[in-house]
Amino acid sequence: MQTAADPLAIAQDLIRCPSVTPAEGGALAYLAGLLREAGFTVHRMTFSDSGTPDVENLYARIGSASPHLMFAGHTDVVPPGDDASWKHPPFAGEITDGMLYGRGAADMKGGIACAVAATLDHLAASGGKPKGSISFLITGDEESVAINGTVKLLRWAAERGERFDHCILSEPSNVDTLGDMIKIGRRGSLNGTLIVTGKQAHVAYPHRGENPIRAMVQILSALMAEPLDAGSASFQRSNMEFTTVDVGNPTVNLIPGEARARFNIRYNDCHTQDSLKRLIEQRAAKAAGAVRHTIVWEPSNADVFVTAPGPFTDMVAAAIKTATGRQPELSTSGGTSDARFIKDYCPVVEFGLVGQTMHQVDERVPVADLTTLMAIYRDILKMYFG
Ligand SMILES: [Zn+2]
Repeated sequence: MQTAADPLAIAQDLIRCPSVTPAEGGALAYLAGLLREAGFTVHRMTFSDSGTPDVENLYARIGSASPHLMFAGHTDVVPPGDDASWKHPPFAGEITDGMLYGRGAADMKGGIACAVAATLDHLAASGGKPKGSISFLITGDEESVAINGTVKLLRWAAERGERFDHCILSEPSNVDTLGDMIKIGRRGSLNGTLIVTGKQAHVAYPHRGENPIRAMVQILSALMAEPLDAGSASFQRSNMEFTTVDVGNPTVNLIPGEARARFNIRYNDCHTQDSLKRLIEQRAAKAAGAVRHTIVWEPSNADVFVTAPGPFTDMVAAAIKTATGRQPELSTSGGTSDARFIKDYCPVVEFGLVGQTMHQVDERVPVADLTTLMAIYRDILKMYFG
């Protein structure tokens, strides 16, 4: 018999919902049922935007007082790829040798299952009501463009007067072992294209043209030579990575008129988007000399942020230490996540399962980790509302 506060059963039920972005797959409806039964007020919102599919979301809250702790996450998953290459079907939630298999097991239906199970358990132990408020902010739009998800959900919640004190995002934050890492921030991400303009000419008459490749090489090597910073207290060095260099010239005897190079920058808290753009533009201008060039920046909603270590991160770390014996590293490594949106509303930390197999064939988590993660969340709830 499954009990409500069994993280494994909830994780299996969620995995069996085929919620590949933007499909809801029954995952949010399932969570809505569990939370409603536990006394939560549940809202289901569908958000739309031109050019993107509609996506379903969920917000549920119990209690009206502060402090208000939010659990955030996403029930959407990346596609499984070729089903035949999975040892266990991606949407079956099978258990073999102590491992739970399925798309989303690690990223992040397993984490959500543990948060829900811990909350149900905490409520049962405290007369059905928290001493403050607990909410779940769950989107179905994280793995794709992330337009109709957490951003809009947070705005919607703020407009109706929801105020959050802290958030735990159950993304798979651990590298190798449960308890090895909490993410307390993320680097920012910025994309741009460097365009160097020359002048077309016959290769036999180079004095009549200007080869943009010459200047492109100079600018590229200048931009790659000098570090963007030396890192900061919470972050590794920022990094600029060129992802493609294109001239697109199929002709052997033609000096091309233009060359392009695309790049991505993962940047730390030594910079803002504006200061970083200025820095790159100045370095490019210096290397380019009189050569005509421009940098086209793409809009980015991925600003750098860090949640300063303090009582909240200490509490999460203490719960992890109690359950696992490990002192988690407070890290800002890796790609972006929805924490970049949540940080505008309250301090946020990311702690969930081990991320090793996320987005891979045979995505899986140890069943024992589900029990341990639930215990960690339950301990956090106890301390938070204690
Ligand atoms: Zn995720």
